[in-house]
Order: sequence, then structure tokens, then C-alpha cells
Amino acid sequence: MLKSRFFKKVDKFNGNFTQLEEHSRRWEKLYKERWAHDKVVRTTHGVNCTGSCSWNVYVKQGVVTWEHQSTDYPSCGPNMPEYEPRGCPRGASFSWYEYSPLRIKYPYIRERLWKFWEDARNNFDNPIDAWESIVTDPEKTKSYKSVRGHGGLIRVKWGDATEMIAAMLIYTIKKYGPDRIAGFSPIPAMSMLSYSSGARFISLLGGEMLSFYDWYADLPPASPQVWGEQTDVPESADWYNSQYLIMWGSNVPLTRTPDAHFMVEARYKGTKVVSVSPDYAENVKFADNWLAPHPGSDAALAQGMTHVILNEFYNNKQVPYFTDYVKRFTDLPFVIMLDQSETNKEHVVSGRFLRISDIKDTDTPNSEWKPVLVDEPTDNLVVPNGTIGQRWEKGKKWNLDLDGISLNSHSWVRMNVSLICLALMHKAMVFSNGHFHVVRLP
Ligand code: SF4
Repeated sequence: MLKSRFFKKVDKFNGNFTQLEEHSRRWEKLYKERWAHDKVVRTTHGVNCTGSCSWNVYVKQGVVTWEHQSTDYPSCGPNMPEYEPRGCPRGASFSWYEYSPLRIKYPYIRERLWKFWEDARNNFDNPIDAWESIVTDPEKTKSYKSVRGHGGLIRVKWGDATEMIAAMLIYTIKKYGPDRIAGFSPIPAMSMLSYSSGARFISLLGGEMLSFYDWYADLPPASPQVWGEQTDVPESADWYNSQYLIMWGSNVPLTRTPDAHFMVEARYKGTKVVSVSPDYAENVKFADNWLAPHPGSDAALAQGMTHVILNEFYNNKQVPYFTDYVKRFTDLPFVIMLDQSETNKEHVVSGRFLRISDIKDTDTPNSEWKPVLVDEPTDNLVVPNGTIGQRWEKGKKWNLDLDGISLNSHSWVRMNVSLICLALMHKAMVFSNGHFHVVRLP
């Protein structure tokens, strides 16, 4: 008869609280193997995240077994919180995504479209004709487009998927021209390889390369357009130096998890935090004030705020800090054109920037790409360094240094219809003898 091991006498000690048993320790092998690794590799998560946190991944036989945040970021200096450890729960479990059976590794096509394609390919030798037979049939196009967003994707072979895409592109180019093809590829900060391959393909095709910002909608397109810089400015650590933070368009703890702590830490030194969000998002709980605009009304809210700022710091009275800032860091000083309003001929509306090519025959290179400013002491129209025109000038050091130009921050405008430039702030520009002259208005 087998003796139950539970009735075997064992040594007990520690006042009978502990007993010594001898068992196999083979189970530990499994545990140890789970954490074993051949090498440690430095990496980050380049797909759908611009965080670029620094991670060490522990690799065994080519497989990531586990990952760990690296902690060797440079210091932010005295009196500043540090960066590390940077990371987020999505990144910490990223290897699970990598080896997940749900990871998409093959092309998928909506089944309804695929059925049309299969039929068309049986009927047409040429794939372009096959595609044409689908997209010129209103019933078929309605049928496959109406099920978009409803799932129903099926796996197909790479060769079939690429053939269909090539047929679509060639058909569109032949019928409408290459500029009717629009595409986007991932943000360059994530992966130059995936970005540049897509961008190059669309560019060589003659198509329209869309901004990835439009696609992701997680960064503000207005920022690079107005300030001429990437939106990764200011550095998240610099949030700590702010006295007033407005979180708008970004649920910082969720979408910028590794750097959200700077916003939280700033509150400890008295920074006021305002959250603009229609819903009670995570970032709202960190805010001193929560502004919850009706969804869809945020553009009107921003315009209202801009109106108040311009009125109170620029129009009704001039605040030197504001003026200096907009002169150096925004496009406000650039001269714009006034066009006659189409609805009311007595009114004018703001048009495009005045370019140096609008003013005189000039041998300035890339003159159509150079907007102008008014140099305050001389009242001359000048092209500052740093416009898009200089970007491609050989031998030119391209930066935003104004190189001694003293800017007039007022918006100068040129009226298209009469060749008279009007200044908003008591100056006018008159065109005579082929030149523009600045005159002061009474
Ligand atoms: S934020 Fe998260 S997903 Fe993005 S790089 Fe950092 S750890 Fe990875």
C-alpha cells in the first residue's frame, strides 16, 4: 500500500510554524527558464508611439523573453525632476503583442470586395480592366463600400493583394492623374524606414503625401504651421518650468504616459493646470480647472480665446513681452495680402502672404517661396532668413536667426486690387515707379 506523503513524519521547527519537506525542485527550472536570456538589447517601440522610451529587452534564442525600462537617461539638472524611468503599460507588455496570435502579419481584404475581384479576374486577363469593371459599376461599389467598418475581412495572398493595389493605382493614374492618389505613412519619429518608403513611393508616383498628423490626430497640425517647428517642442521636461498649463487635445497620462509625471510634478510647485476636454478623461483629475466644451465646439472656443488675447495684449494695448514673442517666434510679422471680398465689394478679406516675387522683378532665388517682413527702422521690405525659400538654397545656413532685422510686428497688408498696401497700424505702402514706399498715415 502506498503511504500518503502527507502523513509522513517531517521535521518541524520554529515553534512548529515551519516544517522541512523534501520535494523535487524541477518546477523551478520552468520559472528560471522564463527569465533566462542570451543577450540584452536596447530598443524602443516604434509602432504607433512617438514616446521612444528606452528599453532593454532580454532575448533568448531570438525571442524576447522579457523587457525592462533602462535607467540611464541623462539628468535634467538641478531643481528639475528626472526623466526616468520612462515607459508605459503598453510598452511593458509589448512582446506579448509581438508574439500574439492576433498580430496581423498577412494582408486582409474585405470579403465582399474580394469576391468581386475574384470574379473580375476570371473574366479579364488584365487586372486594370478587372478593377475598372468593379469601380465603374455603381451597384458593386455601393455594395462593398457600404460594409466598410463592419469587419468581414479575409486573409489573402501577398501576390493577390499587391496585384489589386497596383491595378487600383494604375487605373486611377490613367483616368484621373497621379495627383488624385493621396497617401500617408507613419510618422518619421517612429520609424524612418516605414516613413520614407511610403513617402518615397507616393512622391515618385506623383501622388499627394498627406500629413501623418491628419491621420493620427494626436498632435496639433497648427503648431508646426504657425511656429515652423516640430511639435516635440517644448520638451516635456519643460512643462515643469511653466506656471500655467493647458491640456487640450491630449489626454496626457494616457497618450504621453512616460512624461505625464512632469505635469503632475509641476503642480507641486504651484503650476495651475487647466484641462479642456468634453469628457471626464484621466487628465481632468489632475486639473485645477476643467473646461468641458460641447464636442465639436473647440475650434470656436480657441478662436474666442485668441480674440481675447489679441485684443488685450496687442490691439487695445501693446504688451512688450507679447510683441517680442510674436516677432521672434510666430509668423505674425509677415506681410499679408488683402483681397476684395466676393460678397461685399467694399470689404476686404485677408489673403495669402506677400512674397518677394510679388513686389519686384528680382533675381532672388526661390522668390516665390519667400514671404516678406517690414524692417522697422528703414521701412524696407525684407526677406528674413528661415523662410521655406532659403531652405533649399545652396550654401545658406537655414535657421530662424533674424540677422539684425528689426521687425515691425504689425500685420502689413497689400490690397490686391489697387496695388496699395495698407497697414493696420497707421502706415500704408504705396506702389510707384515700380517700387513700394512706406508712408505714415495721419
Ligand atoms: S510610451 Fe509606452 S509604448 Fe511608447 S515608447 Fe514609451 S513605453 Fe513604449
